[in-house]
Amino acid sequence: MIIFGLEGTAWNLSAALVDEKRVIAEKSATYVPAKGGIHPREASQHHAENMAKVVGSILATAREQDLKIDGIAFSQGPGLGPCLRTVATAARMLSLRIGVPLLGVNHCVAHIEVGKWQSEAQDPAIIYVSGANSQVLALRRGRYRIFGETLDISIGNAIDKFARSVGLAHPGGPKVEELARNAKQYISLPYTVKGMDLSFSGMSTAATEAAKKHDLADVCHSLQETAFAMLVEVTERAMAHAEKSEVLLVGGVGANKRLGQMLNTMCEERGAKFHLPDRKYMGDNGSMIAYNGLLMLKCGIVTPISESHVRPGYRPDEVDVVWA
Ligand code: AMP
Ligand code: MG
Repeated sequence: MIIFGLEGTAWNLSAALVDEKRVIAEKSATYVPAKGGIHPREASQHHAENMAKVVGSILATAREQDLKIDGIAFSQGPGLGPCLRTVATAARMLSLRIGVPLLGVNHCVAHIEVGKWQSEAQDPAIIYVSGANSQVLALRRGRYRIFGETLDISIGNAIDKFARSVGLAHPGGPKVEELARNAKQYISLPYTVKGMDLSFSGMSTAATEAAKKHDLADVCHSLQETAFAMLVEVTERAMAHAEKSEVLLVGGVGANKRLGQMLNTMCEERGAKFHLPDRKYMGDNGSMIAYNGLLMLKCGIVTPISESHVRPGYRPDEVDVVWA
């Protein structure tokens, strides 16, 4: 079975072709804001402008290798409305043109499934940290249940916002990680865990304030240590509660080496196993959408055009994970 997948919920327009075993091809076009953060309309215009190139490249690969596409998967949500609509329109057109089923994929679940596919994880607690989401989940009775999540902004957004406030270009995550390596001391920042939920907004603002008085490297380090400790705490409690002995890290912020290190330490101390998929599957990518579409089609789940409306607030626990 060969599935074409299209991602474009926010900053990355990405198309891919996968089969059960491997990623056959992937082509992306990245939206980089001229200034500030991601502007939904500008991002969707970027996707529209690059659609023919990105999709065309993958279709050309299919033609050259004489591959028959069995389904068109697309990110149905969650994500930025204008971006989702651009992607859904292209996916509907491809499905009708090629004459194969449409597969509406939940973007968060796709992050999880590609992580499982690209690691040895079997039944892990999942920490999903990205530009828009921060959740700790585990599979229970057929759904990825959310054990804890952010009550305001995501960890990625918190870091990116702080980074912009000190003059670093979007996305700030990798730059903050780099700067944090030269830190000399820890500066106290608000540590906000409420039950199983998290709050990053106050911490981001406090870091911006701290950067007016302290060395930037120290603030970057302190921001990471504080935020990641919060995430590790909630992940550990979710593991205990859901009785999981593995952790899987997914989402763009998962590329951060320090976060991986802290989760790994926690797992070692509990005698649990930590899974870190290859970096190229961490941030938003077309392969994850194609792969989740493949899991759906194998179970006979398709999305009629009449039900292919975009779902900006689509939560992962709305999805019946019948393939697991
Ligand atoms: P996603 O939405 O899953 O594509 O992830 C995008 C987010 O990942 C953005 O907020 C980036 O700043 C963040 N990110 C990417 N690389 C890193 C890193 N090395 N450390 C922290 N955050 C990162
Ligand atoms: Mg994402």
